[in-house]
Amino acid sequence: MIRENLIQVHKRIHAACARCGRTPDEITLVSVSKTKPLSMIEECIAAGEHVFGENYVQELVDKYAQNRADGIQWHMIGHLQRNKVKYIIDKVALIHSVDSLRLAAQIESEAAKRELTMNVLLEVNIAEEQSKWGFSASETADAAARIAIECPHVHVRGLMTSAPNTEDPENNRLHFRRLHALFSDIRDHAPKDASGKPVCFDTLSMGMTGDYEVAIEEGATMIRVGTGIFGERKIEE
Ligand SMILES: *Cc1c(COP(=O)(O)O)cnc(C)c1O
Repeated sequence: MIRENLIQVHKRIHAACARCGRTPDEITLVSVSKTKPLSMIEECIAAGEHVFGENYVQELVDKYAQNRADGIQWHMIGHLQRNKVKYIIDKVALIHSVDSLRLAAQIESEAAKRELTMNVLLEVNIAEEQSKWGFSASETADAAARIAIECPHVHVRGLMTSAPNTEDPENNRLHFRRLHALFSDIRDHAPKDASGKPVCFDTLSMGMTGDYEVAIEEGATMIRVGTGIFGERKIEE
């Protein structure tokens, strides 16, 4: 079932790219495996996927320890508490959900301790939903500039958003368009690190099972698909 689902997802990625003159190799698919067992991740790996998104620290750490496949990237996509950064800092390739300067500072200190640099995205609450984490659109450019200067072990690679839950993905098109505009604006005025070197700002993570095609049409470089690959989840956040 997972293999068939992935074929469908890749078909839809191709079609969305064709509609807007992009190529599928511009899009990274993050398979969102939260609440799903390692056996399903293994099926996904057998079908050719290698990037997995998890929301919960303990679950990520357990799956990381149990995984036997090489070349797998783990991404933290859920809200991250500062006191848990230390458990994942040496295990993940990208943290999508940096939603405060204090969290960025914590990542800096844990990354510095281990002499590594951590790639992060800034989470933006683009639709200004009460229930959602993230910077407001108006705070985001300043936050990127400050992290670039103040956190040498943190690479701000771009932006991420979770758009509102909606029946009709067209309802999220304007949110995606606004985030893409903000992303382009920040990229064009590339934030500089402490030595004056511009940071590499190249990743726009938006679009989930219900709306990833619209997100691709609006400029996503990374999409996060759970249900569309693994089926419905029993336990919801
Ligand atoms: C669960 C989750 C997803 C995947 O959602 P689906 O609708 O199952 O594709 C993507 N991003 C984040 C941040 C999530 O928490």
